[in-house]
Amino acid sequence: MNVDEKAFEKGGGNMSDAMLDVVIIGGGPGGLSAALVLGRARRTVALVDEGHPRNAITKRSHGFLTRDGAKPFELRQIAREQMEKYPTVRLHEDEAIDIVQEQNRFITKTSKGQILTSRKLIIATGLQEELPDIKGLSDVYGKSFFSCPYCDAWEFQDQPLVIIGNGRKLLAYARIIHNWSSDLVVCTNGAATISTEEKNELRRHSIPLVETPIRELIAHEGQLQKIVFQTEQLLERKAGFLLDTGAKQSTFLPEKLGIPLTEKGSFATQNHGKTEVDGVYVIGDAAKRFTGLMGAASEGYEAGIALNHELVEEDWHSSE
Ligand SMILES: Cc1cc2nc3c(=O)[nH]c(=O)nc-3n(C[C@H](O)[C@H](O)[C@H](O)COP(=O)(O)OP(=O)(O)OC[C@H]3O[C@@H](n4cnc5c(N)ncnc54)[C@H](O)[C@@H]3O)c2cc1C
Repeated sequence: MNVDEKAFEKGGGNMSDAMLDVVIIGGGPGGLSAALVLGRARRTVALVDEGHPRNAITKRSHGFLTRDGAKPFELRQIAREQMEKYPTVRLHEDEAIDIVQEQNRFITKTSKGQILTSRKLIIATGLQEELPDIKGLSDVYGKSFFSCPYCDAWEFQDQPLVIIGNGRKLLAYARIIHNWSSDLVVCTNGAATISTEEKNELRRHSIPLVETPIRELIAHEGQLQKIVFQTEQLLERKAGFLLDTGAKQSTFLPEKLGIPLTEKGSFATQNHGKTEVDGVYVIGDAAKRFTGLMGAASEGYEAGIALNHELVEEDWHSSE
């Protein structure tokens, strides 16, 4: 099916009854970018988004070309406004609660009772953090405590910083954060599980390692001030980085369709986000754990084009 405005009007204007080309679940940069390219390819698209972006907690987003420093919802708002130009794309502020595959079509059910039937499916539902249980952490996360240095470290360069983390990836993370500030302390919040060699490397770079468990983080209006350890010792710091934010998939609907989770907790994909279920693509953080805004948008663009090619091929051969 190519551009078919009538498809939307079938059933007295209720798009639920129409066979759509693509349903996109998730309206972050990944899903929005896919919707844009598919709209421009004259595809009928329903984009279902419940509106809880992963980075909603931050004040500003960084590193998105032409939009460095934009507020998280500002990016989405601009994308949504520009989408209005494409009449075959419809946005639904709704949550997808079930997907069923029937032969060569997908039926998506939403919490508002919509039933959307489509030939193809893009899942761009992202991740949500499940922060470690450290008192005060949720007050500072996204304001003066972060996980991605490329998103937020520039604002705190040369400031007294702390890393909370432990294990295999700790040293590599410390090396990266050290690039923004050499006034750095690593807290493992319990016995360090790194090797003696790794501890020596931190020492050689004058990065203190504190293994004492943390009692709480003290902040004022989201601005980290100090870390209080269980021994009552205090460590004054301006900002911090968290190695593992405990991010989990926002939805397990892809698993229901038969798309497995990898060991890293991402949905397994191949080129352009294609999955082992024909006609279903997974993009953005749901597939990579951290794509960043620009990476997710880029994956949406690629998946949109790949899916359009699939639809073109199917229609071309079925009309022979
Ligand atoms: C604190 C923090 C700060 C960050 N800062 C930056 C930054 O400065 N620059 C940068 O490049 N990256 C930043 N990121 C990373 C960035 O937010 C993600 O990489 C990016 O948002 C991934 O895009 P996405 O489209 O895959 O998912 P998301 O942007 O998370 O969008 C997914 C959408 O799907 C919706 N959804 C989920 N399940 C359903 C469902 N069942 N039905 C309907 N809708 C659903 C969600 O509500 C959400 O709106 C930050 C992340 C965090 C945690």
